[in-house]
Amino acid sequence: MNHANLIASNTSVKDVNTTCCYCGVGCGVTATVGHNKIIGVKGNSAHPANKGKLCVKGSALHETQDFSDRLLQPMVSGAPSSWEEAIALGAQKFKDTINTYGPDSVAFYLSGQLLTEDYYIANKLMKGFIGSGNVDTNSRLCMASAVVAHKRAFGEDIVPGCYEDLEKTDVILLVGSNMAYTHPVVYQRIVKAKKSRPTLKVVVLDPRKTPTCDIADIHLPIRPGSDAFFFNGLLSYLATEKKLDTQYIEKYCDNFEQTLSAAQSQVSNTAQAAIMCDTDEKSIVSVYSLFANSNTAVTVFSQGINQSSSGVDKGNAIINCHLATGKIGREGAAPFSITGQPNAMGGREVGGLATQLAAHMNMGDNTAHKIVEDFWQAPNLAKTEGLKAVDMFKAVHEGKIKAIWIMATNPVVTMPDANFVREALRRCETVIVSDCIGNTDTAKEADIVFPATTWGEKTGTVTNSERCISLQKGFLTAPGEAKHDWQILAEFAQAMGFNEGFNYQSPAEIFREHAALSGYRNNGTRCFDISALANLDDHDYFNLKPTYWPVSNNPTTSNKRLFRDGHYYTANRRAQLVAVTAQFPKAVPRNGDLMMNTGRIRDQWHTMGRTGSSSKLVSHTDEPYIDMHPQNATLLGIKPGDLAELSNRNAHYFGRVNVTDSVRLGEIFVPIHWNDNVASSSRADALVNAITDPLCGQPEFKHTPVTAKAFQPAWQGFMLTTTAVTPPSRYWSKILLQQGFKYRLADTTPVTDWPRWVREQFPNIEQWSEVLDSHNQHYKAVGYVEDAVVITLTISPSNTIAEENSWLENQLGQLCDSGNRFAILAGRPNNGLEDAGKIICSCYQMGEKTITEAINAGHNTTEKLGEKLKCGTNCGSCIPELNALIGNAAQPVEGSVQPA
Ligand code: SF4
Repeated sequence: MNHANLIASNTSVKDVNTTCCYCGVGCGVTATVGHNKIIGVKGNSAHPANKGKLCVKGSALHETQDFSDRLLQPMVSGAPSSWEEAIALGAQKFKDTINTYGPDSVAFYLSGQLLTEDYYIANKLMKGFIGSGNVDTNSRLCMASAVVAHKRAFGEDIVPGCYEDLEKTDVILLVGSNMAYTHPVVYQRIVKAKKSRPTLKVVVLDPRKTPTCDIADIHLPIRPGSDAFFFNGLLSYLATEKKLDTQYIEKYCDNFEQTLSAAQSQVSNTAQAAIMCDTDEKSIVSVYSLFANSNTAVTVFSQGINQSSSGVDKGNAIINCHLATGKIGREGAAPFSITGQPNAMGGREVGGLATQLAAHMNMGDNTAHKIVEDFWQAPNLAKTEGLKAVDMFKAVHEGKIKAIWIMATNPVVTMPDANFVREALRRCETVIVSDCIGNTDTAKEADIVFPATTWGEKTGTVTNSERCISLQKGFLTAPGEAKHDWQILAEFAQAMGFNEGFNYQSPAEIFREHAALSGYRNNGTRCFDISALANLDDHDYFNLKPTYWPVSNNPTTSNKRLFRDGHYYTANRRAQLVAVTAQFPKAVPRNGDLMMNTGRIRDQWHTMGRTGSSSKLVSHTDEPYIDMHPQNATLLGIKPGDLAELSNRNAHYFGRVNVTDSVRLGEIFVPIHWNDNVASSSRADALVNAITDPLCGQPEFKHTPVTAKAFQPAWQGFMLTTTAVTPPSRYWSKILLQQGFKYRLADTTPVTDWPRWVREQFPNIEQWSEVLDSHNQHYKAVGYVEDAVVITLTISPSNTIAEENSWLENQLGQLCDSGNRFAILAGRPNNGLEDAGKIICSCYQMGEKTITEAINAGHNTTEKLGEKLKCGTNCGSCIPELNALIGNAAQPVEGSVQPA
């Protein structure tokens, strides 16, 4: 009996410690479980990452355990299959392809959502036994720049610091990171530290004014992509002001003179820095001076740096400044690349990138080849790098890769030029997808689909942004025939004929092997060494406490802060500064283009597969949107709340426009989460150019010139339904409600006969009550089946947005007598109850109108609002928005409008 079954077989309610499956913060979660269900979750106060806190996504983990489209059995060519048949067919297809076209004609595309044990086997199978380097991962889309920057500077992909450094430092520079939304619990740790120690200074470098700026002492809205100019300028300033740590440089660093010279030749003074970064010199000097005169500083960098055509150089420009001032390897002093996904780090550790071998060893290194070959007893070890994600899908499109297996990720939504990726999969001879969800945009393109277990069902380790290894525990029995990814991979490998290396019985066994490899012939040459964990027995593995790597002989001593002795993992053990020639983004805008920046929203994760199944989480932002500067909106004839269409090549994105000066003139921001299951055409990454950093292959997601125009519908409206439908309109978006679904609709084709239209679209409705004001083009209809409300439709003229309220949503599915039918048709309760407005606090479902009323009544601090309405008192994710509402109430700002 495996661990999950052991727990699940005991039907009494119990608490299980595990780890959140979303972002790279890696919070410890205590799940309360009973009768094979998660009853509730809370933060694990013993976990060093979050010390008991969870953000809104983590707090809702128990609300996302039932998805209607859960994949329950293998599928072959769209039809249910047995595991034996599906595995045998997939393995045979891979074998035949390799026999005919060679090992590089097949590929694996993995995910930072996988557990380290899954990653380890996939990497071992492809690189050690199939003999190709073609195993890459969606971490290529978020972390590849930092990986190469670390390797160039430190000799190995190493994050030097830990979260605690953010609480102990004098200055935090948050660069290209909307941490309030993307790493909320770390952000809350900074908020708390700053509150208790107001001398802690926070600087945000971001073209956008994001909610993270709520705690910024200085926000520099720099020109997009100008970060390396900024840090080259900082290095020059440090030299000019004699703020370099010359002793540290002399003792521990190489290449300083060339690096400084390169920086000075580009940005020799603060005036130049201000010009290159398109911001005011005074602010630049303030930030430079803060960094120069502080004893400690942490520079946190994230996707704003990494997702760039020169992301590696940007990372090194940051690291250069820390090395040159000795602000590294000490408490509160580090360049800190913070990862996006829960196990991006674990994937990097096993070598899950096409550019790495295994256990932080490199491709093309003969010593490493020999070590791995011997350890794995690998018959066909790959010795050259495989194709990175963008090139991998290009090779699929060109027919060079003829069989691909995609695990736990959705590249048809997340890759740049995502329509090209979809077309590539359609051309590919064999596409295998393993996932827990059956109808993702990628799974729809698969020939073979393997049902995989998901969070709560599978056991394995993840490594968070601060190198802390934690266990995600399986405590639920998997539904249907779902299997763990490591099991699927092991069976697949054996079906390919590789029996010896893949006869695993548990994730613990795989972890022990992974840990042993990290220490194999290491002798201190590789920092990634967790060999002290190689002898954990099953019990200790299943009860593994959060553990920082490297882990020496004593697993209880953790090593949270690295490079304390000034020794690095380069050939000569000295850090390498890297001369950086800063560059702007590659894509040149056409006349009239707006520059599209992409990113996450507060309550959603990636492509909404899991978070989209919580009505609470989707209530905060329920429609794809576009943040647009007021002047651009005016030029395009767009008003707040209008729809707009963005396009690039043949891809289109529809979104509701939020007119706001939080974005710079000429720039727009759109969220990445929407997919074809929840919107007619709002996959933002389909518009992104597949331009990559030549050093690491990471795409430039943050900078895409797009054509923007007003979408001018003949009509628009919203529809509530008890069951999901595919709306017959050019634009639609869908969210889950507790009682059904809500759709926003719009179309350019006028409808002349609405009563006829609804009856044609919904022929199964037994009774309609409706009202038509043809003069003003308003139409409302409510459809009933057996006296229960199953659909409401509210249509408005093109230029108005139909009013919505939660009362009407609550009527869905309810029996309705004749006395109440008029109220439902009117869309308002007879007693005149007011709607709470746009949801701000997801935890307590508190809306903007209610909060604003409370502020106006004198509850004008977050503490007072918390006392009055509870908003902001659980996860705290909404506090920046509460502060914004408090600020707006005190001093209304024209032109700043929330999304409709
Ligand atoms: Fe999960 Fe939120 Fe913690 Fe990230 S910050 S790991 S999403 S609870």
